[in-house]
Amino acid sequence: MTHSDSDPRWRPETVLAHAGRPPEATLGAVNPPVYHVSTVLSPDVATLRGKDKMAGDHMVYGRYGTPTVFALEETVARLEGGVRCTATCSGLSAIAGTLLAVLKAGDHLLMVDSVYFPTRSFCDKVLAGFGVETTYYAPDITPDELAALIRPETRLLFTELPGSLTFEMQDLPALAEVARERGVKVAIDNTWGTPLYFKPFEKGADISIQAGTKYIVGHSDAMLGTITTADEALGRRIKETVALFGYSVGSDEAYLALRGLRTLSVRLARHHQTGLALAEWLEGRPEVARVLHPALPSDPGHALWKRDFSGACGLFGVVLKAVDEAKADAMLDRLTLFGLGFSWGGYESLAIPTYGGSIVRTVRPWQAEGPTLRLHAGLEDPADLIADLEQGLACLAG
Ligand SMILES: *Cc1c(COP(=O)(O)O)cnc(C)c1O
Repeated sequence: MTHSDSDPRWRPETVLAHAGRPPEATLGAVNPPVYHVSTVLSPDVATLRGKDKMAGDHMVYGRYGTPTVFALEETVARLEGGVRCTATCSGLSAIAGTLLAVLKAGDHLLMVDSVYFPTRSFCDKVLAGFGVETTYYAPDITPDELAALIRPETRLLFTELPGSLTFEMQDLPALAEVARERGVKVAIDNTWGTPLYFKPFEKGADISIQAGTKYIVGHSDAMLGTITTADEALGRRIKETVALFGYSVGSDEAYLALRGLRTLSVRLARHHQTGLALAEWLEGRPEVARVLHPALPSDPGHALWKRDFSGACGLFGVVLKAVDEAKADAMLDRLTLFGLGFSWGGYESLAIPTYGGSIVRTVRPWQAEGPTLRLHAGLEDPADLIADLEQGLACLAG
């Protein structure tokens, strides 16, 4: 699947509707088929030998991708503003694949303290055993403080913004400049920013990761990750690492992700609107100490969000006023429209408790007035969601 089917002038919504649909692959069907593939036959030995496993545009063997997977990769690469994308079997495998492609024994990694917890565990449990040292830094680190943490063996700055569970913003362009001046690559977990609302390569990143499981798939029915680069050679190295670890994605998942992408823009606009409506309503409630949502003008990260993002997704945090955790549990139990479950980015609303030790920070402990929750605003009517929160919050009284 080549780029010849897409026009470089297309704006994001047009890319969402038209990329990854080359007529020769679809035989006139609107959507590309799901290619179920392990073996790919060649007509002769010369063709078999001539195939390039890392090219990412023709089939060699199932593990190196199928036309369904290539269609997804091409679309995500274009949306994020990169030249190459490799899809993987989960968001976490995209993170692991990136770290393993860039780092080797003896290297040093700078990792934001507010990172997604399994990313932290991967560094502490896997990379440490491979001889890669990780230093965590606070999300509000200044460029000078960051410069002081960079050593000759530092290879990668890995970040995620806003912070996982706690939603702190970071000045990525300023931090990335410090890293790049010293030859340190910059990777971002861009899942909250989505391929539409944060443009990683314009803000100084070399690598952008999406947990496609969230908004790209968008319907809570498949696991998938993507790794995009604006550099061909780096993208090839990542594809090779992903293939060597066997983190390949199946065509069924790639199809679900492509199908999700087609409506990403309209879904996100609604998630943004509803998330902000809930956040504003919660901010005015007597049970709530503060709301962790960078698109709220009261949020400490608001100016950076406004400068660097063109929208917000539906995921944010709420800090309750001091109250027994048992009462907060009862409040969550009482919700009917907000499901209790991990992940986010689907059409449905979700809630999880992030009190009770879920927020792990080693640079600076998380300090909050009371229990912290995480909410995902789905596509339901916001008035129904507010009514559900209202009857839930009633548990906290008395
Ligand atoms: C969910 C998530 C991941 C991991 O994605 P999976 O598909 O669940 O492996 C990575 N980063 C962030 C920010 C996430 O929220």
